[in-house]
Amino acid sequence: MEFNITEDQQHWRDLAKDFVEKHIKPDVLRRDRLLTAEERIPWDWIREADTAGIRTLGIPKKYGGAEVDIVTLCIVGEELAVGDLGFAVIMDQCWKMAHLFGEAMTTDQQKRFIPPFVKDSEATTAIALTEPGVGSDHQGYYDEPDIDFQTTAVLDGDHYVLNGTKRYISNGSMAKLYFVVARTDKTKNLFDGGAVFIIPHDTNGFIADTFHEKSSQRLATNGTLKMENCRVPKENILLGEGKLGQLRSQFMPGSKAEAAATVLGVGRAAYEYAFDYAKNRKQGGKQIIELQTVAIMLAHIAMKLDAARLQIWKAGWLADQKHPTAPVHGLLAKVNASETAFEACRVASEVLGGASIMHEHPMEKYLRDATSFLHSDGTNQLCLLRASKAISANSYEQVFGF
Ligand SMILES: Cc1cc2nc3c(=O)[nH]c(=O)nc-3n(C[C@H](O)[C@H](O)[C@H](O)COP(=O)(O)OP(=O)(O)OC[C@H]3O[C@@H](n4cnc5c(N)ncnc54)[C@H](O)[C@@H]3O)c2cc1C
Repeated sequence: MEFNITEDQQHWRDLAKDFVEKHIKPDVLRRDRLLTAEERIPWDWIREADTAGIRTLGIPKKYGGAEVDIVTLCIVGEELAVGDLGFAVIMDQCWKMAHLFGEAMTTDQQKRFIPPFVKDSEATTAIALTEPGVGSDHQGYYDEPDIDFQTTAVLDGDHYVLNGTKRYISNGSMAKLYFVVARTDKTKNLFDGGAVFIIPHDTNGFIADTFHEKSSQRLATNGTLKMENCRVPKENILLGEGKLGQLRSQFMPGSKAEAAATVLGVGRAAYEYAFDYAKNRKQGGKQIIELQTVAIMLAHIAMKLDAARLQIWKAGWLADQKHPTAPVHGLLAKVNASETAFEACRVASEVLGGASIMHEHPMEKYLRDATSFLHSDGTNQLCLLRASKAISANSYEQVFGF
């Protein structure tokens, strides 16, 4: 057994660390407090990330990307999120689609969509399933024909005509390329009667111009998307009817582990800030880090963060191997990392005492950011429900053994 990371992984980790120190840390608190979603979008950081190779980290090498593995994406995602969770999510939404680019697209789609994405230093991607009436229900746990999934795609000649509304979409209304799930047959359940369409942002009838205002991941957008008689050529179907189930398991295999890594970065940022604070703050004639109450709180968080990271890397490694248990481990890693990060932020804020809520410290931002992944990428309850299906259908050894 080996716990070292590779030279390539060290390279990307160090590059991400430098990126955070140089670009993100000096200005992140000011940007986080800007009033509107539009003014918070960090276009300059996205361009810098493109120059550094971060934006296209998951893209196949033959199209100019670095084509790194999922474990590397987890390592880099955590580092970026130590700087800012929102920015890490903007990047990760691009990385999550890398397998869609590399493995789900036809050769014709790859030629049409990958080069413009790689060339445009501000281009990001988004995936749209959630609607006002369907949140957890698109996770596949409840999949009956009466599901309230309203976005439809009707065949008209050589085009599909899409109508419907999506909400809460990460990178929504700022992305250049969208992967949109629509229902092609309302008599069937979503997974059998739905398809994924590739929609460039400037397609007629595709309206992506509104943002949700929110307390968490404020530098990333969550957009509302509307499709009003939006005509999409048949050739833009990414996954047709009956293939929606493959979206997460096969073509977004690192989604949960990567999400887990980004939220873990927030927990680590909170820990590191509290650690430095405790070394500098004096009460009772000594540094508070010397007080057992504070030292134990810090040790406890450090322990939980380390355990969560190992679980994430294991989930990422299994996903890289396309191991059959990878989806369960991804789900569990996301639940554990989000709970750990949230708890780390809470405890770290106790180390700061009253300073924790003051705007000159980042702790209140970390707390706000950590809440998002309790729900994003599937609520933790749904993730556990889905994992429990596989856990209860197999022996412990089959799921957790080596
Ligand atoms: C920051 C952020 C980013 C997001 N990005 C995207 C994105 O890029 N693309 C996208 O499509 N969506 C995105 N979403 C939406 C996200 O996937 C949903 O918010 C999530 O799946 C939960 O849906 P909901 O919010 O409608 O909650 P609901 O489904 O309404 O859940 C409410 C409560 O009911 C529980 N519940 C629901 N169904 C069941 C059930 N069958 N059994 C037991 N309990 C249940 C839930 O666990 C939860 O406690 C994002 C959300 C957030 C917060």
